[in-house]
Amino acid sequence: MTKEFAQLGLRPELVQSVSDLGYINPTPIQTKVIPLMLDGNDVVGQAQTGTGKTAAFVLPILQNMERDHRGVQVLVLAPTRELAVQVAQAAHKYGSCLNVRVLAVYGGQSYSSQISRLKQGVDIVVGTPGRLLDLMKGGELDLSGVSTLVLDEADEMLSMGFIKDIEEI
Ligand code: AMP
Repeated sequence: MTKEFAQLGLRPELVQSVSDLGYINPTPIQTKVIPLMLDGNDVVGQAQTGTGKTAAFVLPILQNMERDHRGVQVLVLAPTRELAVQVAQAAHKYGSCLNVRVLAVYGGQSYSSQISRLKQGVDIVVGTPGRLLDLMKGGELDLSGVSTLVLDEADEMLSMGFIKDIEEI
């Protein structure tokens, strides 16, 4: 077991999950962000690509999620479909021990498969702003139960002109 991850306050299943992935020590952004998020703080994190930012927010989110909640409780906005897929895969990977249901929604993919997954029940939705708005407006995506919101690569989303969509969401 990875002692340093446990010392950040993560529960044993999540420590085991990162240990199984071969992570030995938390990265600097993980060491800073994980305890703050576990305590329920709002956090702005900045770090280079490849420094473990995704796990820094996904691990505490997984720990803080309510186990008997019905409906979407976590929403992650991402600027591109590639990033949305990457974050969803990471959440699935880190959360496999907790049976968390994760869905990536993005433009260019058929609505029907995304809508049928939403109907089956999803805990974490990761999406690009345009497709999220479409699904909300169509009544297929209910965000009324969301308690955690992440703006991943927020600077990128702003420079791509997503501010209006983000505010609307
Ligand atoms: P990211 O910056 O979130 O895109 O992560 C970059 C890569 O680092 C991913 O392949 C992660 O699986 C990996 N990673 C994240 N945290 C750690 C860690 N504490 N130790 C080793 N690898 C990690």
